[in-house]
Amino acid sequence: MKVLVIGGGAREHALCRSLSQDPAVTELHCAPGNAGIAQVATVHPVDQLDGAQVAALAERLGAALVVVGPEAPLVAGVADAVRAAGIPVFGPSAAAAQLEGSKAFAKDVMAGAGVPTARSYVCTTAAEAAEALDAFGAPYVVKDDGLAAGKGVVVTSDRAAALAHAASCERVVIEEYLDGPEVSLFAITDGTTVVPLQPAQDFKRALDGDEGPNTGGMGAYSPLPWAPAGLVEEVLETVLQPTVDELRRRGTEFSGLLYAGLALTSRGTRVIEFNARFGDPETQVVLARLRTPLAAVLLAAATGTLDQLEPLRWDEGAAVTVVVASEGYPAAPRTGDPIEGLAEAEADGTAFVLHAGTKTGEEGQVLSAGGRVLSVTATGADLAEARGHAYAAVDRISLKGGQHRTDIALKAATA
Ligand code: AMP
Repeated sequence: MKVLVIGGGAREHALCRSLSQDPAVTELHCAPGNAGIAQVATVHPVDQLDGAQVAALAERLGAALVVVGPEAPLVAGVADAVRAAGIPVFGPSAAAAQLEGSKAFAKDVMAGAGVPTARSYVCTTAAEAAEALDAFGAPYVVKDDGLAAGKGVVVTSDRAAALAHAASCERVVIEEYLDGPEVSLFAITDGTTVVPLQPAQDFKRALDGDEGPNTGGMGAYSPLPWAPAGLVEEVLETVLQPTVDELRRRGTEFSGLLYAGLALTSRGTRVIEFNARFGDPETQVVLARLRTPLAAVLLAAATGTLDQLEPLRWDEGAAVTVVVASEGYPAAPRTGDPIEGLAEAEADGTAFVLHAGTKTGEEGQVLSAGGRVLSVTATGADLAEARGHAYAAVDRISLKGGQHRTDIALKAATA
């Protein structure tokens, strides 16, 4: 099977790494890719937001499956263009990707499906925003309605800051604050059948101790030893299946990866958000534990045959990923710096380095090219061992001004 992956971050590197280890995959391509992906796939310089270009590339390559990684191409209709060309694609239509592309749409779907989530108001004026903030009280949660690369949400007890964020967005969703630990649960779906993956937890804040600004994600781990037994079954029954059924009922069938960001609150499990694609960096740890070869799973979702898939097999151990970000991330990341120690980080075989924002320089050296630069991933018998391996690898890497959190999976590993 020839497979084409769209995207160029660590999530796509994780997807490409798993696909490259799948004996069913005879050729692996990625567009646009990055310096790390180029080591396991043939990369193509394509505008990933241009559906016609992506479909033309898939046809030229004779791809049997196209996997769309990031949200922006999905919302731009890239999966629709590939599907229209008659090629199986893993990823929802633009209409169904509105589940992530518009928080207001997601709230409406959840209301229709009876899925538990935070109470909320959609506001377009300062007066509406002020009224909604006061209805819920502090801490305030203000979300840009559109896509914002994980940076459109402000959670603060400062009413003025909450109002300022609302004023900087065209349309906002203001909602009640959800307490309790967060869980990311991914599910693969063909629009009817839903197959949940293993839960993971990510770390959204830039600094240790969950301080600093929200980011795209600074690390993740799986499994969650502290999670209540039966959590996955409960979420499948109360969140994932009803949402997929509701979208089908509305005529916006959703196939691909449905990501539920959940809060386990004192009043029960609530959806914080949906994403329409694999989450980054949780994908790095979830795929590190998946034993079932990936291509057939994604193809079954793309072709509506998930009900025939054998149950997924999982590594009983743990996986941890630590994101190395550039100086100034998330506000003003500095790029173009050489990265050293990549081979040394992988030398003892306990960790692997997934590239997020990298490019190959003129002399073949690897250079930083984005805010999140690397996602250093390791497995182990348990979280403590996986953490040890991941941080030992991080220590062997040097990037001028590079930053990472030192407490990824720490609480879960020592609990
Ligand atoms: P989102 O982009 O919706 O995932 O929000 C980013 C982060 O903001 C989440 O991972 C949470 O940590 C936080 N957050 C979002 N909504 C809420 C909420 N209603 N209550 C508490 N924290 C929230």
